[in-house]
Amino acid sequence: MNIAGGTHHAYSNRGEAFCMLNDQAIGARYLQRNKQINNILIVDLDVHQGNGTAEIFQTDRSVFTFSMHGKGNYPFKKEVSDLDIALEKGTTDQEYLSILKNTLPSLLEKVRPEFIFYLCGVDVLETDKLGTLSLTLEGCKERDRFVLQTCHDANIPVQCSMGGGYSPEIKIIVEAHANTFRLAQDIYA
Ligand SMILES: [Zn+2]
Repeated sequence: MNIAGGTHHAYSNRGEAFCMLNDQAIGARYLQRNKQINNILIVDLDVHQGNGTAEIFQTDRSVFTFSMHGKGNYPFKKEVSDLDIALEKGTTDQEYLSILKNTLPSLLEKVRPEFIFYLCGVDVLETDKLGTLSLTLEGCKERDRFVLQTCHDANIPVQCSMGGGYSPEIKIIVEAHANTFRLAQDIYA
């Protein structure tokens, strides 16, 4: 669990949008080169598309990139991930969670990852000043619960990075991020 990071806008040859180096991409390569891990899945649920990550692994079949993001959000020119789900403005908890729950389990079956990187940005909240989606704190928590429980049940190690969060009230951002940690503690205890 990383209380920072999730610098998914950094490309193979340049930084972009506050992201200098793509931490999860570097982590994925480290595992492949040093830990004999081949198949990796990156689950990017930050409201912004993981454009840098998509570009870095564009032609690499060993790292599957999945990004679910706001259609109207930055980056305005999106890259092509292995799986992109672009959500309409105002997408609610119910719609969001049903799409996620219909997607992630079958993705695990298909990709058979040995390791998962999870980018759990909380800029999906309705209070977020940059995000175009409308998740509640409870919905965001259920998103994290579902991802972590799914990884746990499949016995696949998962790494979490914070990603974005731009709600004007800092305590909402902190609460949403803290929920991710509380859930991990419950699920992995
Ligand atoms: Zn973001």
